[in-house]
Amino acid sequence: MANIAPAIMTYGTPEQQERFLRPMLRGDHIWSQGMSEPEAGSDLASLRCRGELIGDDVVVTGQKTWNSNGDKAHWCQLYVRTDSSGPKHQGITCLLVDMSLPGIEVRPIRTMAGDSGFAEVFFDEVRIPRSALLGEVGEGWNVATRTLSNERAGVATLYLHLRRKLDRLIEEAGQPGPDGRVPTDSPLVRDALAARYTDVRVLELLAKRMLGAMIAGRMPGPEGSVIKLAWGSTDRRLTPPRRWCRASASTGAAGEPARPRLLPQLARTSSEQGHHR
Ligand SMILES: Cc1cc2nc3c(=O)[nH]c(=O)nc-3n(C[C@H](O)[C@H](O)[C@H](O)COP(=O)(O)OP(=O)(O)OC[C@H]3O[C@@H](n4cnc5c(N)ncnc54)[C@H](O)[C@@H]3O)c2cc1C
Repeated sequence: MANIAPAIMTYGTPEQQERFLRPMLRGDHIWSQGMSEPEAGSDLASLRCRGELIGDDVVVTGQKTWNSNGDKAHWCQLYVRTDSSGPKHQGITCLLVDMSLPGIEVRPIRTMAGDSGFAEVFFDEVRIPRSALLGEVGEGWNVATRTLSNERAGVATLYLHLRRKLDRLIEEAGQPGPDGRVPTDSPLVRDALAARYTDVRVLELLAKRMLGAMIAGRMPGPEGSVIKLAWGSTDRRLTPPRRWCRASASTGAAGEPARPRLLPQLARTSSEQGHHR
């Protein structure tokens, strides 16, 4: 909803806004995004799923992949190529597609983790009425950038999760360990904690700056990608290695649920930092 609704609010006709926004907000309609294709991932503009304008319909043939919730979705925000003659960013058109139309086949993808939150979707000469156009024919790239900017803005809340991890880490570092020593007595640990605190605080300020700009009516821009990158590296520095979690779980006190602790990661990152200096 956070991604597709703003695009409908910007590019949708009054009829589309009336028809789609409220059921989306209520959760009555599940939506998926049909952007990625087997040969069009990061380079979205190279998408090849074809849409031919025939009479009052756009006739779609091709394949999409990695559609989150694709196996459950009632509707899909679909991007198709309606013109191949010009530069590849032009000639893309966005459609709001009823997934129950004949000619659509959805095949869930099972991931290596065993879940299947994604699907491949195949279109075989699916006739989609022109009333499903979101924006003008050939304006799909603008619709996509608007949609993706809003998707990136969603990363603004990621710092909340890291803040919780950091609070736990600080709390743990103030408690005596099995050897009776309190980690924060060590200047190295205090130094590492200060560095992690700074990382999370910078992320928070970046996120708030972005949210502030959105509240002021400005469109989210590339800063969402900076936040995502900063979140990834900070999260990695705050997450204990998996092998250590297993060891922690096996040595948990009897009767207590095993709960991975974060301190070894702190020690690791503080020694890494020592090497870098
Ligand atoms: C959790 C999740 C949910 C998703 N949901 C959806 C969805 O709902 N709908 C949808 O359409 N798609 C979805 N996707 C797909 C996602 O948008 C694509 O995975 C993404 O566009 C990358 O495409 P790709 O996986 O084909 O990787 P590729 O584009 O093949 O890239 C592979 C690697 O090469 C790097 N790379 C690519 N091009 C360059 C370049 N020019 N220079 C340097 N490095 C480059 C990439 O950074 C990446 O590391 C989802 C993906 C994930 C992980």
